Amino acid sequence: MRYYSTNSPANFVSLKEAVLKGLADDNGLYMPEVIPTLPQSFFDNMHNLSLAEIGFEVLKPYFCPDIPETVFKGIVDDALNFEIPLVEIESGIFSAELFHGPTCAFKDVGGRFMARILAHFVKDESKEINILVATSGDTGSAVANGFYKVPGVNVFVLYPKGLVSDVQEKQFTTLGHNITSIEVEGTFDDCQRMVKEAFLDKKLNADFILTSANSINLARFIPQSVYYYYAVSRLPKAQRDKKVLFCVPSGNFGNLTAGLFAKKMGLKVDQFLAATNLNDVVPEYIRKGKFTPRPSIATISNAMDVGNPSNFARMLDIYKNDHSTFSVEINGDFVTDEQVKETIITVDKNLNYTLDPHGAVGYYALKKAITPEFVGIFLETAHPAKFPEVVEPLIKRAVETPQRLEDFKKGVKQSVEIKKELEELKKVLYSRLK
Ligand SMILES: *Cc1c(COP(=O)(O)O)cnc(C)c1O
Repeated sequence: MRYYSTNSPANFVSLKEAVLKGLADDNGLYMPEVIPTLPQSFFDNMHNLSLAEIGFEVLKPYFCPDIPETVFKGIVDDALNFEIPLVEIESGIFSAELFHGPTCAFKDVGGRFMARILAHFVKDESKEINILVATSGDTGSAVANGFYKVPGVNVFVLYPKGLVSDVQEKQFTTLGHNITSIEVEGTFDDCQRMVKEAFLDKKLNADFILTSANSINLARFIPQSVYYYYAVSRLPKAQRDKKVLFCVPSGNFGNLTAGLFAKKMGLKVDQFLAATNLNDVVPEYIRKGKFTPRPSIATISNAMDVGNPSNFARMLDIYKNDHSTFSVEINGDFVTDEQVKETIITVDKNLNYTLDPHGAVGYYALKKAITPEFVGIFLETAHPAKFPEVVEPLIKRAVETPQRLEDFKKGVKQSVEIKKELEELKKVLYSRLK
């Protein structure tokens, strides 16, 4: 498969180049030359396949034969070595629990794939690869843990000071070795901008091999398609004839874009619902036909505090800039912090299910939108124990914390603090790498 940049659809690069670069030189995002469709036999048989088997079939067209099939099979098995259960929390409403990976958020899926795909491509490089990643909380940990101690790869995690939860911060700042954490006096958008500026900086790119691990990197976002298939394949028989509505709590829209890929490849999804917090530039675009990026607002679903979602360019590309088809296939809604809090309280009380603040955005929007001809699936993107500061005062008890999160809490934070300027980031890179 070849890949083009959303800013120059006539020029193609190889998978390796697209993955190593992350962002194209013209500042566009890479897209596959074609989005292939899968045969009907695959869909008919999907419920008999395991998560990893589904993953291999779905992703093979994008990554093979550039990566030999046998090698890629190993990558899929290893990346998807945890469960993604589909839990019916009330009649006709399912939670796709994406938080059973090592850092307890869905970003483990993309992070683990990307680490393994990149490691495959850098094996033969003589220079070290440097990964820059901006995080609103969960990406940093998934990517840092995915690449931890991988030879030949250095990771620099930029995160907004004071705007991520303590556990989130501990999951990447305590690792050391090839992981450097950079605390930026600014917002996630500032971090994301600085990363993009670094990729466009000629001197920096002449001195080092830099790549991005944000969902602008296709090795991260495309693998996320897999759990849309898996969730549909695990719907109970009695519900399979209903229309399917996926509600995706969204920030940078990598997750939702992966869902759009799944649909384009033939998966039966009748409706997407893009649920945001007050950072609602995409729901607003759906409503008004106008995209107005703006500075992000801090909310309690902090991993979705994105005012200029980078994957919007990919969504527009899929719909060829046509607002009417875009807004037919994707509905949008936003949810306030107050609504999130009430949702966490009532779902805990009435359904005995503890939501995290991001999943709660999804559940609330889904419940508001759903009608009886649909079965609804919302993506539960993180474990509630990642956000005890928000969740515990609401449910008035401690959240049960997985051991792997407890272990992170014991580590000691190490980070470099900088102002929100590219020059400051460059200083850190030069001091660490030269
Ligand atoms: C990153 C993140 C999101 C948003 O995902 P996007 O792909 O950026 O839209 C939602 N929930 C959680 C918990 C996250 O970490």
